[in-house]
Amino acid sequence: MSERPHLVMEVPRRGKPPRHFADLTPQERVDAVVALGQPTFRAKQVATHYFDHLTVAPGDMTDLPADEREALASALFPPLLTSVREISTDKGKTIKTLWSLHDGAKIESVLMAYRDRVTLCVTSQAGCGMACPFCATGQMGLTRNLSAAEIVEQARLSAAACRDGAFGKPTRLSNVVFMGMGEPLANYSAVLQALRTFIAPVPNGLGLSARHITVSTVGLVPAIDRLAAEGLQVTLALSLHAPDDATRDELVPINAKWKVDEALDAAKRYFDATKRRVSIEYALMRGINDHGWRADLLAEKLLSRGRGWVHVNPIPLNPTPGSPWTASTPEDEREFVARLAAHAIPATIRDTRGSDIDGACGQLAIKEAT
Ligand code: SAH
Repeated sequence: MSERPHLVMEVPRRGKPPRHFADLTPQERVDAVVALGQPTFRAKQVATHYFDHLTVAPGDMTDLPADEREALASALFPPLLTSVREISTDKGKTIKTLWSLHDGAKIESVLMAYRDRVTLCVTSQAGCGMACPFCATGQMGLTRNLSAAEIVEQARLSAAACRDGAFGKPTRLSNVVFMGMGEPLANYSAVLQALRTFIAPVPNGLGLSARHITVSTVGLVPAIDRLAAEGLQVTLALSLHAPDDATRDELVPINAKWKVDEALDAAKRYFDATKRRVSIEYALMRGINDHGWRADLLAEKLLSRGRGWVHVNPIPLNPTPGSPWTASTPEDEREFVARLAAHAIPATIRDTRGSDIDGACGQLAIKEAT
């Protein structure tokens, strides 16, 4: 394996994507249409097309004056995402899309249909600066932050695809997880604006339930506290992967800055502020972090902070090319969960949808240079 990437806290400055309707707050949308010489009520009409009809095509906007549709749409909806490739797997229940951004940067999102929900895994940054050595995106380094609209567009286009039968019959996008490429809390303001837009009722936003949205983080403690104070009911997931600092220092480089106990304290404060049960993400790696005693130590650390505030999501590692780590055996996985259960810590093994198309957790990286 080549030399490990380094942890990057400074975001590279690159050309910003053009300003888009979905970057704006509802008041800014009104200001934007007025600046285009339109009456204020246009903002609601335009928002209805975008968030309710999920369209940016001027031809669909028949309630706007015919000779102004084109100009309005091109001013408010500059194209941000172009689908380059779509790959489907799991009998058509998982669809990964590779998107090209305005500057040629590439990102991916993954749409997964379940019996009772449809979940979109969104990307918040092109690449990632957190340098976790077992994660494919972590190996790419950070290219740039996405804008709020680049995040919202992943959801708008996915919601339209669901409605239009991407899974064989019309479905509804119901859940969003920030578990695609990037560290969402390192792109705080764009992610917050995207969250508010996901949650705002139609036509001000996509009308998703906050409780159906999960923000996953390596554990940027000040940003966790900031998010806790926003008054949103979104779920926090903390990528812990080890209960001891020696191992976590290796697996999650940000642990050099915020230790296991500090990250867990912040997660508990998040629960206290929101009453939303926190998820602890734990990628099981054979012989690295999957020992029974580590399950006991994890349980002990969680219980020392209270009961009923947390849920553990172990997932077998999806090994990335060149990775020295492999997934735990099913027996070790079962033992790990059983140990947690013995301490009355709820744990559910997370599924590994899309692993054969490099669409599973931690496998999102851009392979081709076409
Ligand atoms: N940066 C954020 C969100 C993106 S990753 C975070 O780290 O939480 C989403 C989840 O996938 C994280 O829990 C991450 O640790 C996990 N992950 C990364 N690479 C993985 C891999 N190869 N196998 C299994 N899970 C992985």
